[in-house]
Amino acid sequence: LTILNEIEQLPADALFGIKQRYGQDDRATKVDLGIGAYRDNTGKPWVLPAVRAAEEKIHADVATYNHEYLPITGLPSLTKGAAKVLFGEELVAKHSDRIVTVQSISGTGALHIAAKFLSKFFSSKKIYLSDPTWANHKAIFEAQGLATSTYPYWNAASKSLRFQEFLQTIETAPEGSVFVLHACAHNPTGLDPTEEQWAELIDTIGKYDHIALFDSAYQGFASGSLSKDAYAVRLGMQKLALASPILVCQSFAKNVGMYGERVGCFHIVLPNQSEETTAVVRPAVQSQLAKIVRSEVSNPPAYGAKIVGTILADDVLTNQWYDDMITMSSRIQKMRVRLRDALVELKTPGNWDHIVEQCGMFSFTGLSPEMVKRLEEEHAVYMVGSGRASIAGLNEGNVEYVAKAIDEVVR
Ligand code: PMP
Repeated sequence: LTILNEIEQLPADALFGIKQRYGQDDRATKVDLGIGAYRDNTGKPWVLPAVRAAEEKIHADVATYNHEYLPITGLPSLTKGAAKVLFGEELVAKHSDRIVTVQSISGTGALHIAAKFLSKFFSSKKIYLSDPTWANHKAIFEAQGLATSTYPYWNAASKSLRFQEFLQTIETAPEGSVFVLHACAHNPTGLDPTEEQWAELIDTIGKYDHIALFDSAYQGFASGSLSKDAYAVRLGMQKLALASPILVCQSFAKNVGMYGERVGCFHIVLPNQSEETTAVVRPAVQSQLAKIVRSEVSNPPAYGAKIVGTILADDVLTNQWYDDMITMSSRIQKMRVRLRDALVELKTPGNWDHIVEQCGMFSFTGLSPEMVKRLEEEHAVYMVGSGRASIAGLNEGNVEYVAKAIDEVVR
């Protein structure tokens, strides 16, 4: 009992703390730009039409509708479909023997499996994270005893990529380090490397025998196109998996709106070796991943997996999902323009073009922690202290109000 008495109380999670304060705020004008979750133009969560159709299909099939356990490595329609969404039909058809996939508890679970796998087989490797990055990255890798470091990413003064310094870090990192790369729609900055920059980054990672770990949590949100947003992952697979493995953590939380259902996959693309070697390596790697899953969750959750698996196995539903993705990404893009235009109209000091130029769910607004605090206290506008705003929380009904609130705190 005395041990419990000694336990230190930790501060509340910053992001979920915002959600809690927002929930308790009774001001009618309150706006939640905190957590990265899509909202429709009335500020409500949106169940994608593709998801509704898939659910109907699952329930209608009385012969197969049940709540049985899934296999340890996950639902095959999900794991197969997920690989196709990420790598594209062509690469999957060509290299299916080199892609090992297991279902995971959304993107966080995929990162956790990656961390477990790395700590078991690559424990001496340093994990390089972008500065800044999603706060949980550091926690997930360090919890497995892995050492983390950072690579320069965001230049706050110019609101641009610190590309040369990023490259230099890749060049000077101990050979064989692990680079965690945001596949697209970087969180929190909304800034991605250009295609040319990706090519150079990936070539350099290959040159120094580093391992690329792509975190793909927002596929579809950068450009509206699921395939376009897989550019970096596919380039990585073609250029890097020749010599070393690549790891990919895939979340369906945002792009299928499956936040709470925890649907994701972890993929390892094996290096391009002889067929005989691959035939030995593949089952070995698969068995190790299965062991990790078995000891932690026994087998992955079924319901959300069935929904996403049903969408991915049905061309009509897949096309619907691609359309839904455009609905979400184009509404967010429209809100970026509306917010920027409103700030320009108010003659708010500063340049606000970055709001439109950044991509994905977030804008790294450049607002200071003091301004963010004032936004919350004086105007009931909630965002992360770093100045990250989830643009998905904006709509026709609140964008002008938010612009006025920002204008007030900036002046
Ligand atoms: N990676 C990044 C960069 C993220 O922003 C998130 C979600 N905030 C995740 C992974 C994982 O999210 P989830 O576990 O909900 O899929």
